[in-house]
Amino acid sequence: MSFESIVSKSTNIVIISHTNPDGDAVGSTTAMFNYLKNRGVNVKIILPDKYPDYLSFLDKDGSVLFFSRDQGISLELIDKADLIIALDFNQLKRVSEMECHILDSSARKIMVDHHPLPDNDSFDLVISRSEVSSTCELLYWLFLGMSTDIPLDVAQSLYVGIMTDTNNFSNSVSWQTFHVASHLLKIGVDKEMLQHSVFGGFSEGRMRLMGHLLLNKMVVVEQYGAAYIALSREEQELFDFSEGDSEGFVNLPLNIKGVFVSALFTQKKDGNIRVSLRSVNDFSVNKLSRLHFNGGGHERAAGGRLEIPFESVGSYFRQALEKSYDQCNGI
Ligand code: 5GP
Ligand code: MN
Repeated sequence: MSFESIVSKSTNIVIISHTNPDGDAVGSTTAMFNYLKNRGVNVKIILPDKYPDYLSFLDKDGSVLFFSRDQGISLELIDKADLIIALDFNQLKRVSEMECHILDSSARKIMVDHHPLPDNDSFDLVISRSEVSSTCELLYWLFLGMSTDIPLDVAQSLYVGIMTDTNNFSNSVSWQTFHVASHLLKIGVDKEMLQHSVFGGFSEGRMRLMGHLLLNKMVVVEQYGAAYIALSREEQELFDFSEGDSEGFVNLPLNIKGVFVSALFTQKKDGNIRVSLRSVNDFSVNKLSRLHFNGGGHERAAGGRLEIPFESVGSYFRQALEKSYDQCNGI
């Protein structure tokens, strides 16, 4: 069955995305929400946890639910749903505590995503293209296939997802990405406003933290053309850190000549470490993450988590490179 035919048979739709929602997660869910709302169905977005403040303008009426905060109502909606649309993730474990409730639900399930290795077994329909820049770019084609009219609020959300997942049109972009962006601008998207909201709306603390990390914390591992930054809880408190403030930090070391692989390790409240990995050559951080960081993602942008003492994260990263550099070198 096609996306269109499943949607046309559904009356209570729940849209979900992954934990630590980023621009593509919030962009794709709000784009789908606005697209479906215009068709007169009951539709809600449930995210596992809160999105960063700089994306709140995409959720104008504040109707997005966070499972970690709104568990009761979220469970009711999942229970009542006859369709669940999963966006911007490939494996149900990426929705953490929501996973078992989604698995238990008798609703039809659709996944639209751009990560490799999708979990086909848990979904009735999987639309997965790992060659596209973002879930938002993929949604553009899906919407266009159903109607030539893309409303402005939908176009705006799509643009944000593409802009953020490509690190402002620098990574994973193809000519099609620019073609899509160009059409979204033609529809009326205000790119200056979106640029400013997403990349220019940070706090003073975030700028100073960035300076501190570059000056005092960034470590270059010359032998492997790699670099890493470890961001402790203590530093987060000192610089009045809030969710989303570290967005883009992992890309900074990649501006150094000779650095092709970068890692950001962020100590979380529960003591676990969130891992962000990037590469700008044929080194697969997806493989590295699957082998050593309990995660995955794309070949050049991946993430994961670690449960080791925070102080040992640097040596753990060096050892991971030492053990697996050759295996990961080659996409
Ligand atoms: P980020 O570093 O921006 O958090 O994540 C980069 C990419 O890796 C994103 O596409 C994201 O979906 C993926 N990713 C992040 N964390 C995880 C994880 O724990 N597991 C998997 N499989 N992918 C992840
Ligand atoms: Mn994405």
